[in-house]
Amino acid sequence: MTSPVDEGRRPVLPAILRGQKALVTGANSGIGKATAIGLGRAGADVVVNYVFGREAAEEVVKEIESFGVRAYAHEADVSQEDQVVGMFQHMVEEFGTIDVLVANAGLQRDAAIADMTLEQWNKVLEVNLTGQFLCAREATKEFVRRGVVPEVSRSAGKIICMSSVHQIIPWSGHANYAASKGGVLLLMQTLAQELAPKGIRVNAVAPGAIRTPINRSAWETPEAEADLLRLIPYRRVGDPADIADAVTVLASDLMDYVVGTTLYVDGGMTLFPGFATGG
Ligand code: NAP
Repeated sequence: MTSPVDEGRRPVLPAILRGQKALVTGANSGIGKATAIGLGRAGADVVVNYVFGREAAEEVVKEIESFGVRAYAHEADVSQEDQVVGMFQHMVEEFGTIDVLVANAGLQRDAAIADMTLEQWNKVLEVNLTGQFLCAREATKEFVRRGVVPEVSRSAGKIICMSSVHQIIPWSGHANYAASKGGVLLLMQTLAQELAPKGIRVNAVAPGAIRTPINRSAWETPEAEADLLRLIPYRRVGDPADIADAVTVLASDLMDYVVGTTLYVDGGMTLFPGFATGG
């Protein structure tokens, strides 16, 4: 099946985040990597968080620096409170503050419910949900301390939660993952409600099927990809750049009045495509 979009024609965003400081968790791979690079290309200084892949993180740093902005890699497990607190403290020391948090780090530990171990359950909830809570809390403290700096941004700070279409689509064999993303939806909405009066914008981006290591088995053979495309009305698997561009625009003042929203970037996956031919 051919893609309706010519990737060669993807427009390059202007420097809509010039002078802002961003932290992207899980930024050495997939969506986080593309997002960190996209934010850097848009003019932000970027902290590239990772937990295991230091070399890959350093490559991302080099690519971001090639845009003439600052970047460094920071190892921290987002599910560990002391490491998250230390990561934000270090960022304030290095960059002075934070303007944009992209809470992206996430993983899967798939199993049918009868076989799912408590360890698999806890691991996914700790990284995908508790990790977002800890990072959002630390970013909020700095946003509130610093307040709005009008020459940098109209808001006191932006939090973008990386969710998934599975915040609303049930997913057999992935109860831990779907529960974590369902949790992200109400975490995001609650924080948005609580923090909007302080000038902080909290939103989510919910990717559909994006070509990254997390879901390699779903797209790496032609048969698997054909199966997957049946779930995507726009008939192409997404690229990390699709998410990076959505995050970059959402983080910018172009979206200053967008608060508490989930931006689905999914080629229509949430449109119940099974009903296109019946129902
Ligand atoms: P990926 O390529 O596997 O990247 C996951 C990233 O998370 C890696 O950088 C990994 O770092 C990091 N990470 C894992 N555990 C961590 C921890 N405890 N602390 C800090 N970082 C940690 O997957 P991806 O597809 O880009 O996924 C990124 C986000 O998008 C996830 O939240 C995922 O749920 C969401 N998403 C993806 C899709 C998709 O189709 N790909 C769809 C919907 C939602 P290391 O490499 O150092 O371990």
